Amino acid sequence: MALEEKREKRPPVTPMMIEEEAALRNGSRGLPPGPWAEAAGPRPRTTERHIAVHKRLVLGFAVSILALLAVTMVAVLLSVRFEECGAAADGPPRAANNGSLPGPAAGQPRGRAEPREEARGGEEAAEQQQQEEEEEEEEWQRRRQLPPWARPRLPRHLRPLHYNLMLSAFMENFTFCGEVNVQLEVRNASRYIVLHAHRMHIEAVRVAEDKLAGAVRVARSFLYPQTQVLVVVLNRSLEVQRSYNLKIIYNALIENELLGFFRSSYVLHGERRFLGVTQFSPTHARKAFPCFDEPIYKATFKISIKHQATYISLSNMPVETSVFEEDGWVTDHFSQTPLMSTYYLAWAVCNFTYRETVTKSGVVTQEEQRSIRIAPLCSEYACCINGPHLTHHHTWKELVAGCQVRLYARPDAIRRGSGDYALNITRRLIEFYEDYFKVPYSLPKLDLLAVPKHPYAAMENWGLSVFVEQRILLDPSISSISYLLDVTMVIVHELCHQWFGDLVTPVWWEDVWLKEGFAHYFEFIGTDYLYPGWNMEKQRFLTDVLHEVMLLDGLASSHPVSQEVQQATDIDRVFDWIAYKKGAALIRMLANFMGHSVFQMGLQDYLTIHKYGNAARNDLWNTLSKALKRVGKSVNIQEVMDQWTLQMGYPVITILGNETTDGVIVISQERFVYDSDTKTKDSGLGDSSYLWQIPLTIAVGNTSHISSEAIIWVSNKSEHHRIPALEEASWLLGNINQTGYFRVNYDIRNWRLLINQLTRNHEVISVSDRAGLIDDAFNLARAGYLPQNIPLEIIRYLSEEKDFLPWHAASQALYPLDKLLDRTENYNVFSEYILRQVATMYLKLGWPTNNLNKSLVQASYQHEELRREVIMLACSFGNKHCHQQAATLISDWISSNRNRIPLNVRDIVYCTGVSLMDEDVWEFIWMKFHSTIAVSEKKILLEALTCSDDRNLLNRLLNLSLNSEVVLDQDAIDVIIHVARNPHGRDLAWKFFREKWKILNARYGEALFMNSKLISGVTEFLNTEEELRELKNFIKSYEEGAAASFSRAVETVEANVRWQRLYKEELFQWLRKSLTH
Ligand SMILES: [Zn+2]
Repeated sequence: MALEEKREKRPPVTPMMIEEEAALRNGSRGLPPGPWAEAAGPRPRTTERHIAVHKRLVLGFAVSILALLAVTMVAVLLSVRFEECGAAADGPPRAANNGSLPGPAAGQPRGRAEPREEARGGEEAAEQQQQEEEEEEEEWQRRRQLPPWARPRLPRHLRPLHYNLMLSAFMENFTFCGEVNVQLEVRNASRYIVLHAHRMHIEAVRVAEDKLAGAVRVARSFLYPQTQVLVVVLNRSLEVQRSYNLKIIYNALIENELLGFFRSSYVLHGERRFLGVTQFSPTHARKAFPCFDEPIYKATFKISIKHQATYISLSNMPVETSVFEEDGWVTDHFSQTPLMSTYYLAWAVCNFTYRETVTKSGVVTQEEQRSIRIAPLCSEYACCINGPHLTHHHTWKELVAGCQVRLYARPDAIRRGSGDYALNITRRLIEFYEDYFKVPYSLPKLDLLAVPKHPYAAMENWGLSVFVEQRILLDPSISSISYLLDVTMVIVHELCHQWFGDLVTPVWWEDVWLKEGFAHYFEFIGTDYLYPGWNMEKQRFLTDVLHEVMLLDGLASSHPVSQEVQQATDIDRVFDWIAYKKGAALIRMLANFMGHSVFQMGLQDYLTIHKYGNAARNDLWNTLSKALKRVGKSVNIQEVMDQWTLQMGYPVITILGNETTDGVIVISQERFVYDSDTKTKDSGLGDSSYLWQIPLTIAVGNTSHISSEAIIWVSNKSEHHRIPALEEASWLLGNINQTGYFRVNYDIRNWRLLINQLTRNHEVISVSDRAGLIDDAFNLARAGYLPQNIPLEIIRYLSEEKDFLPWHAASQALYPLDKLLDRTENYNVFSEYILRQVATMYLKLGWPTNNLNKSLVQASYQHEELRREVIMLACSFGNKHCHQQAATLISDWISSNRNRIPLNVRDIVYCTGVSLMDEDVWEFIWMKFHSTIAVSEKKILLEALTCSDDRNLLNRLLNLSLNSEVVLDQDAIDVIIHVARNPHGRDLAWKFFREKWKILNARYGEALFMNSKLISGVTEFLNTEEELRELKNFIKSYEEGAAASFSRAVETVEANVRWQRLYKEELFQWLRKSLTH
């Protein structure tokens, strides 16, 4: 799963919303009045057809009862597999909005699932049941035990072996019904079956022994919402080592949210079209079908989906057969899956089209030579049915020799070719992973599905990975390098999961970092495979992963990368940047101290041993230790890694004493924390309770060369080490190429020697080390470990720096400092100093003149990214030429209505233009934001609107951001955060956040990742005593929810305020002195 996008909370249902939903279903939402609004009704062809069916049925009834019986019998025969799911239909669905629904025989559910979660109808029955439940609970209490359904984890006495799941999706009223048959193995005798089921209406529950041996009577069954389970109480115990079949018939809503089986929509040719898609990770499969929804319960699944033939359906496996039925309904029967966890199951019902390609696996097909085969482009529904479904009468084996890869998206995007880039790299990446892991991709096909709305950037469902459109669709003519990089890395990430996650699954959510850390680390390895010159793992990993996560993990309120979780509601919490980025950083450190080839061998063993199963972190450590042993090295990886994964935070190593000539240095470690007041407040911090085994590499250098590094394992608070080649004028450098997850500090003399080296000949020190020194120095100073002038002195050498990475590191490290100063009186002293450092390189590099073609991107990535970085610094700190250039480009666009702004600097130009120029420019960008179709362009146009100096416009934008018709829910958070970053808007965003907190929390509260992003984004740059007070008061008045995010926010603002108090003057004094020299 790739983070970044946000998830909305299910809003409470109000009468207004029901009205809105009806409007939405009628296709009129958000459409201006006009000729095509009327044409936007839901699929008129279907409606007509169903009206015709009804007329025929009525006529048939009038003419002859016999005829009706015959019709019914045919219908029953046709839908024999859905007998149970459909038989429950006993009246028109309440949610129906017209008469076009299929009759009961076609499998209509009873309508909306009742919000009351009970398995029987009728008040009496409910009362009786409640009484029975209470008695049962009391009985358990007498035994001083929690009843099996009240425990946070499922009881262990049953194991699901196989699921047969048959679904019928009704897109007209957004409901679905299902019948699930679970084959169960009994490990311990019990009268109870407890499995997950949430927010659904259970219609029937049956238990049969060994399929044929007759039913075991169900005494009663009930849903227990507190733990999201369905409890089946039997009249007699299930016997050990026997297998039983559990059949459940249920129905539920295809909700307008982003979890479980949910719906989404898009507009094509003025018509709103709907799709249903699933998001089950981590705990939402239970909202779509009753199941043992914990990752350890791997089983095989056979899925069938019945839907109107105007739609197609997709799932993890290919379609084996499609059965077309009367009245335009079709049932797709999918092949059986291998053993897999419930949260990786997926399906979709949509009317998308696709393009496809085929991976190697030995046979070269005609299609493969052409690389991308264009699927039939459908303007008619019939074509859509016949297009993708042509294959349904064959098995996948007959058609495809390798792995078939398809990209499904809305038809207009497919037609534009927006999915071709993703499709092309996916084919290459599958081949890369197969070669790297020495384990072939496990399924016959992989579909990539681009959807308009999704809670995350993407989700790695096995064989059916789902992506939000902004993370997979790419139009080369209007996409920047960084957008291309984003798309690439999300795809690399999800494909890695097909092995780390889908094939080998963490035992439990505490180790989610195992799969997420690996997938994040491989984003860089896989991108290096696609673009070998970009050096992602050696370079960009530092700024994008290591430096970013050390900012977060340097807070006293951080948490360990392995986190204990029990309750379903806590599980979302583990998907955060600590799991992803720290996980990746620790894996990189491990790969480096093991050596990359041994590490790779170890991973191959790990995947081979555990494929189709589950593994915990110790399984990985053991396999890797064995791999090391094979090459004659002995490191207890578990012992080392436990300290890094079970302790929060990271160490700062201090290297002292190279003034002495005997070559002995003192190396000490302590936990790095930004706010040293917190350190003293909490006596547990900073003392010996935090200790790591640190693989420290050290090199010695002087003006012309650097020694090859040696590795020193530091495991005590303080250690003495002898460094042989240490001379008086030589400097020491620790954590070579920043492969370790820690910071390094030195005595001031060593810092001076390093600064001299950078100034005289920076190339003696590697690119990664230059970036590492910059980041360490800025952060050590921010936390008070180092005088404020040291980092500012380091960046003086940048006027000679021709590599992108050190500039990027400096830019990222300057950013929080800039935000601490941007509302102060003397800000211009700071900006003046930075502009001086940027000026030389800005002049040297100039502006890009034309857009890059593909081959140029590959060759000049570093150069273009460097130029972009320097332009960004120049424009944001107020370089006059940069401002003029941006204004000229914008004016040219407005007057000619042709956008000639180079792609790679468009965001900078838009933002600078909006901040400098008048309201008309803002209105122009606003108009373009509405009219553009390309998702990448839309994003940067919206962000540019937040750059204005005009507080009225910023307020207007903030208010508009909550209107889902104008700004997508998932983008509203970005608008608020970006306004908070603007010094002219920070207080507005902060005020807006407090005033609208109830609305915002209702919308995003359940999605912890989005909510914490919002909270930290709005508060992280507050830095006055007054704002700190406001924050604390605000938290006091709204105590519910998001406690962890708010305590992090308070700690961050406290650290900001403390920095202002202690170091701001010191910094300004030095800057003033420096500018006059
Ligand atoms: Zn992931």
